[in-house]
Amino acid sequence: MTEADPLRLLAVHAHPDDESSKGAATMAKYVAEGVEVLVATCTGGERGSVLNPALDRPEVWERLPQLRVEEMARAREILGVRQEFLGFVDSGLPEGDPLPPLPEGCFALVPTEEAAAPLVEIIRRFRPQVVLTYDERGGYPHPDHIKTHDISVVAFEAAGDPERYPELGEPWQPSKLYYHMGFTLTRMRALHEAMLEAGAESPYAEWLATWDPERDMSHRVTTRVPCADYFPVRDAALIAHATQIDPTGRWFACPMDVQQRVWPTEDYELARSLVDSTLPEDDLFAGIRSEVTIP
Ligand SMILES: [Zn+2]
Repeated sequence: MTEADPLRLLAVHAHPDDESSKGAATMAKYVAEGVEVLVATCTGGERGSVLNPALDRPEVWERLPQLRVEEMARAREILGVRQEFLGFVDSGLPEGDPLPPLPEGCFALVPTEEAAAPLVEIIRRFRPQVVLTYDERGGYPHPDHIKTHDISVVAFEAAGDPERYPELGEPWQPSKLYYHMGFTLTRMRALHEAMLEAGAESPYAEWLATWDPERDMSHRVTTRVPCADYFPVRDAALIAHATQIDPTGRWFACPMDVQQRVWPTEDYELARSLVDSTLPEDDLFAGIRSEVTIP
């Protein structure tokens, strides 16, 4: 790493729209500070549903893969990030009992070493100090999210090793790997209680009622990035994914000022680090800033 090296953040996501629902305000904040941010989107989201009732029409379903590319382009502009598709095919969310088999050729069925290759290439070309991905359970149990975690961990470890994937460019070792920790019980409860106090109906009651405390990750949060000023940018990017997001739905039910006051951060777990930083942190680049400069 040289003096002139700018800060770079790579966020790895499963589908178009995931970058806008997980860590979007963090990315917008770093972009505003001059950090280079690249989103790597593993799949094209081809097997997603139309989740916006206003757009649930045959002509929308017919064009869904192309629409999702166009929506991603709008969200990318709103967030001010660069974005690349890795080119894998959406596995879909299997439903039913027993679960149906995953469709042939989908992302989740590609062997992990092979699926990690395009991400290793991106890491070596973009040279991020920080990589963001999902936890080992995918944040939620979609096979593409779990696969996204798996390839991120493999690529983080392999990108700096000249003996692995030697054909994919000059080795580059990122310094920190983080997992998104946005959907913690602690945060949901805080927002829920603030809405009840305000005399409003809480959109989180159902989530909280069915929450399995065993699965809560609150205790794993190491890093809270203050980014409340960028929550409106996050919401605009989410709305750009028009087929995926119901603008009258739960995502937007909690008033902006309540969110900004009650939980003004996006939260992460520092999963791997090759630099020293003191926990808890409020900056994904803690321990790195002293070595590099922002252009
Ligand atoms: Zn997803």
